[in-house]
Amino acid sequence: MSKPIVAIVGRPNVGKSTLFNVLAGDTISIVKDTPGVTRDRIYADVTWLNMTFTLIDTGGIEPDSKDIILSQMREQAEIAIETADVIIFITDVRQGLVDSDAKVADMLRRSKKPVVLIVNKVDSFDKFMPDVYEFYNLGIGDPIPVSAASRLGLGDMLDIVTSHFNQEDLAEEEDERPRVAIVGKPNVGKSSLINKILGEKRLIVSDIAGTTRDAVDTGVIHQDKEYVFIDTAGLRRKNKIKEELERYSIIRTVAAVDRADIVVVMIDATEGITEQDAKIAGIAHERGKGIIIAVNKWDAIVKDDKTIYEYTKKIKDVLAYMPYAEIMFISAETGQRLPKLFEQIDVVIQNQTLRIATGVLNEIVAEAVALQQPPSDKGKRLKIYYITQVAVKPPTFVLFVNDKELMHFSYTRYIENRIREAFGFKGTSLKFIVRERK
Ligand code: GDP
Ligand code: GDP
Repeated sequence: MSKPIVAIVGRPNVGKSTLFNVLAGDTISIVKDTPGVTRDRIYADVTWLNMTFTLIDTGGIEPDSKDIILSQMREQAEIAIETADVIIFITDVRQGLVDSDAKVADMLRRSKKPVVLIVNKVDSFDKFMPDVYEFYNLGIGDPIPVSAASRLGLGDMLDIVTSHFNQEDLAEEEDERPRVAIVGKPNVGKSSLINKILGEKRLIVSDIAGTTRDAVDTGVIHQDKEYVFIDTAGLRRKNKIKEELERYSIIRTVAAVDRADIVVVMIDATEGITEQDAKIAGIAHERGKGIIIAVNKWDAIVKDDKTIYEYTKKIKDVLAYMPYAEIMFISAETGQRLPKLFEQIDVVIQNQTLRIATGVLNEIVAEAVALQQPPSDKGKRLKIYYITQVAVKPPTFVLFVNDKELMHFSYTRYIENRIREAFGFKGTSLKFIVRERK
């Protein structure tokens, strides 16, 4: 099931980052041991009661003049409307209601997306409540008083935010077609690839009614099989500022990856793999999606018999945390290896949903343990009692052991490699949960 996306929109200094950090807590979704993925706090997974969603802070760099505040906010609101399921519109009781708030409220209202209007910095209800009522004038529903800094009112806010989720998730679950996201930095050739695929395949326009999100989803039939392609190319943005473009590209990527089963990470062969490519690939990796690395524009470079080898090595070095990913060399322009791409997509989807019988798994682990003794500490040796697969997408295994502390990362990695030797699992990460049983 794909996670709903919640975006925060608001003027500078109303408390967007404060709210984001309080809600994200320590659960910032960027994994520490994913090299090349910096901890820029643009998105995080947040769990409230039994629901998990992705929170996005659309606010970028601080505009340095009053004139551009409004255009910045419009931009933020557009991104939120495009990518989010629910929008948190944050205002500030101390600054009061200002003109740009009203303009953005108009945009949000027209989008018909669920909007939760919050009034921040209500540190004391007695003192500030009378000023909250003014925000009814925005015409986007009841203003909810909160104090991000003192963590007041956040439970009520989250109840309302999460109450908007359910329907859409259910609709997506009924759709059995594999969902493929094409991601990559600007100009790697995402649109070209989608267009090439559409030009060659019969196209069925997504017939799911309504939301803006579905406008970027495209149904494709290839050899009697159906797929949904999720395009992140999106609107062409004329931003001059590099940081902002990057932020926007990351937000779009997170939104697309969240909704996908399998992610095609495109890399520009004419540039080689870059830090931003690693960041983008990291998003798909940490979310446990099926992954194919597609090196595009393969037609445009001068090659000899070592070129593929050199590219592969460089990519494997930079993306060392995802050795399972398949690397392909394609050209969106000439169509080179596009049939192969579909073959790989099918393989990876199968691997993401592969279930291994418990008996077989335990045989493999018993054999692995016999071949390489488990680690020990202070005379106590790790014992693995039992392994079982508990989930797919990604395949997830629970290992029951005598002492969790003894299950070193390297031994988990060893078990993982043995399982991969037996079943492949190409293109998908595997997740291991270690439980203690005395
Ligand atoms: P952003 O520009 O919208 O991301 O705003 P920030 O999160 O950086 O907050 C701007 C300022 O407002 C900072 O000085 C915060 O400490 C302050 N602030 C944020 N939330 C609250 C709050 O609930 N109460 C009060 N009194 N100040 C807050
Ligand atoms: P996007 O921003 O990722 O959607 O990238 P586009 O699809 O707009 O492509 C950016 C530029 O790269 C365009 O000028 C394309 O013509 C060019 N391009 C895309 N794919 C290929 C390819 O396979 N080979 C070559 N030579 N150029 C390509």
